[in-house]
Amino acid sequence: MNCGEVLRHLGPYLDSECDREVTLAIAEHLERCGPCAERLAREKDLEDRLAGHLGACEPGDDLLWRRLEGAVTRSGRRRLLWRGAAAAVVLAFAVGGASLLLRSGASDLVRAACADHAKLSREKFSEPEEPLSWEAVSASLAGRIPFAVSIKGPSPEGITPVGARPCAFGDEPVAFLRCCLGGEPVSVAILPEAALGSFPEAAGEFARKGDAFSCGRGDLHVGLARRGGTLVCVTGLPSGEALREAARILAERVEVSR
Ligand SMILES: [Zn+2]
Repeated sequence: MNCGEVLRHLGPYLDSECDREVTLAIAEHLERCGPCAERLAREKDLEDRLAGHLGACEPGDDLLWRRLEGAVTRSGRRRLLWRGAAAAVVLAFAVGGASLLLRSGASDLVRAACADHAKLSREKFSEPEEPLSWEAVSASLAGRIPFAVSIKGPSPEGITPVGARPCAFGDEPVAFLRCCLGGEPVSVAILPEAALGSFPEAAGEFARKGDAFSCGRGDLHVGLARRGGTLVCVTGLPSGEALREAARILAERVEVSR
């Protein structure tokens, strides 16, 4: 791939919309082309700063969002608009190419989780957003994803669901929950372990690191845990350790059945 082609794909690449082959080709080009890498770094820097603002805003904080949009539009970068947050997070993982991915411990599953967290943290799930029972979570997902999600035993302490909806990481359907963890909003994705087949990098990390681990970049962290055929992925601003612990607790308590 040459500089012109990279430039042409830059928008979709930043938005994580390129297919795997193109993404790899761009990452390879960036490793050996200074000017393209610099250009991308500049984009990344702005989007990182945007993501910082967005991370601090409450769901539904439209005023802050409009201010950010205004700032972006003024600087002539219309492409970013509301997709900026998702792109920034994805880009943070993508910009350094494969070597950086390995060093930072990020994986394909983590990128999907971060992108969805950034995208969906802007949306309200219900009006008003109030704590849900786990029964209500199960009921609202029933029949909308190809597996049933339930919680066994008492509700996990300190993890309060406030929204649930079907979602997908790539082609894999996931039960997507918004929860409060110690007052912080986090995204929780629950999926059958069999779905790991679609995330070979994550599968490799589970093999190396064991059944629970966390990673992150910038302010956003992801905690992953798997147990008994279920995979739980918690994403948000709290520390990787806190998120890994939450994922571990949920993986212990959540039951997924087909
Ligand atoms: Zn180039």
